[in-house]
Amino acid sequence: MAELVKHWIDNAHTSGVTTRTGEVFQPATGAVARQVVLAGSADVDLAVASAAKAAREWADSSLQTRTKVLFAFRQLVDAHRTELAELITAEHGKVISDAHGEVQRGLEVVEFACGIGQLLKGEHSEQVSRDVDAYSVRHPLGVVAGITPFNFPVMVPMWMFPIAIACGNTFVLKPSDRDPSASIRLAELFAEAGLAPGVLNVVNGDGEAAGALLDHPGVAAASFVGSTPVARQVYARGTAAGKRVQALGGAKNHMVVLPDADVDVAADAAVSAGYGSAGERCMAISVVVAVGQIADALVTAIAERTRALRTGPGTDPESEMGPLVTASARDRVTSYIAAGVEQGATAVVDGRGRAPSGHETGFWVGPTLFDHVRPEMSVYTDEIFGPVLCVVRVPTFDEAVELVNANPYGNGVAIFTGDGLAARRFQREVTVGMVGINVPIPVPMAYYSFGGWKDSLFGDTHVHGGHGVHFYTRTKTVTARWPRQRHGVDLGFPTHG
Ligand code: NAD
Repeated sequence: MAELVKHWIDNAHTSGVTTRTGEVFQPATGAVARQVVLAGSADVDLAVASAAKAAREWADSSLQTRTKVLFAFRQLVDAHRTELAELITAEHGKVISDAHGEVQRGLEVVEFACGIGQLLKGEHSEQVSRDVDAYSVRHPLGVVAGITPFNFPVMVPMWMFPIAIACGNTFVLKPSDRDPSASIRLAELFAEAGLAPGVLNVVNGDGEAAGALLDHPGVAAASFVGSTPVARQVYARGTAAGKRVQALGGAKNHMVVLPDADVDVAADAAVSAGYGSAGERCMAISVVVAVGQIADALVTAIAERTRALRTGPGTDPESEMGPLVTASARDRVTSYIAAGVEQGATAVVDGRGRAPSGHETGFWVGPTLFDHVRPEMSVYTDEIFGPVLCVVRVPTFDEAVELVNANPYGNGVAIFTGDGLAARRFQREVTVGMVGINVPIPVPMAYYSFGGWKDSLFGDTHVHGGHGVHFYTRTKTVTARWPRQRHGVDLGFPTHG
């Protein structure tokens, strides 16, 4: 009998009340590794009730108390890096070094949240009128929810709950049902750090559990990260239920390579950012835009590196790229490759049927490189979310910017060049939320905020950094008078003086 991943409510594992379960795979072998409980609305009610019960006490806790727990959690995550990375690799499939990187980037958000005393400072103006002061303070929202994707089972939940909790909220997390174990382990570690029961609950489940959270009257706000069609629905459903919602969606990230760029540097970057984590990153590069005469040399250099990549189980330190997360993800990617060939793109490297020997039952697709891709082809229009890199050739800088800006997604973009003026123009003109200049995956540090434009984000706040604190608090502005003398009745509109 496979181990059952349960919910985490009131600092304890529980199977909840519904009996639906799902399968969690080991992508490198294709075997079922675990079962996971799939929450219905009754389980969501239990988790929200627990969070609501804890909310008052936690909102009243001192900043010092919160910081102490966050520091202890930071130490525990640091001490359990390897265990967490191994859990990610087992259920997601990414290579272990990549999983370690994910834990590190999540940890940096906890470190940011440890400074909550500084971050929650309000504003204060003395003597805005005679004997009158004005000031603003930040209050937590109450119970907030997070709904997260499979591709970063540690980092993306940690974009959310450390900041929400530091701000004085209680949190209900609904992680992806494809790799749920890491979230549960994080919640256990937070409890070990001293977090009171109910402040962080985890309900496992699929869209049904997520929908119940979005409809729940006890939930004040929801952070979502996932694909664009679901993000759009989540934003509409959550806001219709009166909640504050930030919904981050999918991506089609372009890397523009100008004619003056160093071909080797650009090819290294394209291959690393295109095939890392088997392309299952929202900041993966999926389109290389080769400008002018650099195209032939660039494609040759990318192809050489692509053919040399070692695909294999994430647990093998020799592997550079692991499998895809599920059989259906693999089949989806291979059907896009077939469509690319059919629609006339040149398959320079075709990753279909390239399972590493001895691991044929896993969910493999080798790195794939298409050249001469045109914007109407489905390999260009759709987010494939697999190890497929497309090269689009354009003659000029202006046409490169036009291509990027015409794309409905706007998560990340990069430019490779030695020309500072061109880079500056690009940075100003692209309609994309995160820009890399000679950096292929420009993921902002924890103290900046992460988020795309256009169909890559619904709502108006990005995650973590200053936006995170803003999203998880509401401001109250106080005007206070301590008069030295009576003013008497005055029906005029208050002015200063
Ligand atoms: P997904 O949209 O399938 O699922 C995301 C979450 O939504 C999961 O927890 C899932 O259970 C839940 N869900 C599924 N159906 C739902 C529904 N109808 N209503 C509410 N919730 C529902 O995404 P995924 O396949 O897990 O993750 C990959 C996607 O996430 C890619 O598109 C990727 O680009 C995107 N992503 C975006 C970012 C970003 O920061 N913009 C970061 C990571 C991943």
